[in-house]
Amino acid sequence: MADRILIVEDNRDILASVVDYLEIKGFEVDAIENGQAARALIQAHPYDLVVLDIGLPGMDGFTLCKELRERDRNPLPVIMLTARDAVEDRLLGFEAGADDYLVKPFALPELYQRIKAVLKRSQRNFERVLQVGELSLDTASRQVHRSAQPVKLDRKGFVLLELLMKHWPDVVSHEDLNHALWGDAPPDSAALKSHIYRLRQAVDGPFNSPMIRNVAGTGYTLVTDAQ
Ligand code: CA
Repeated sequence: MADRILIVEDNRDILASVVDYLEIKGFEVDAIENGQAARALIQAHPYDLVVLDIGLPGMDGFTLCKELRERDRNPLPVIMLTARDAVEDRLLGFEAGADDYLVKPFALPELYQRIKAVLKRSQRNFERVLQVGELSLDTASRQVHRSAQPVKLDRKGFVLLELLMKHWPDVVSHEDLNHALWGDAPPDSAALKSHIYRLRQAVDGPFNSPMIRNVAGTGYTLVTDAQ
């Protein structure tokens, strides 16, 4: 799966050139010009990294970054952009929780290098074995167990379960599940349903308490006995 990056920048020229460049480099890129709208996008989609300008309409980059840090269980990596090279800004950025900092004007290959470095760091920090209740998923060996019993999944089932576990206890939307399986060209809604059906048979079938919960009109989430 390509890493999914959100660019938040109100200078349209910079925004357009960054988006084009990063798409050529193989990332999935979303772009937005307003801080408040960016916050809504981040809440709705599982991004891997955010490139965040400081001076923005709606909500400034410092405030948004700080808010993300205070709320998130798995902190979303943030690279801050600013035109100002003042030491205080740099410190404020790190204080707000940014992982890295880039001063405008910057060269696009420089941004690319920073993104790669920050992603690598964050993925190393990401736990190799995801655990939700009695369910465990090893992202390296691709083994899945529930209460020590092996769960056999096909490739798409594994992708779905990994996404649900990474974002637990949040609900993952139909849109994001479709996106993870098929990118921007999902088949009809019956296709996702049939993959969820197979996932349920594998994960919940042999057990008394189902863990995969349908949230009507929204998406799916995992539930544990402790909840
Ligand atoms: Ca700006």
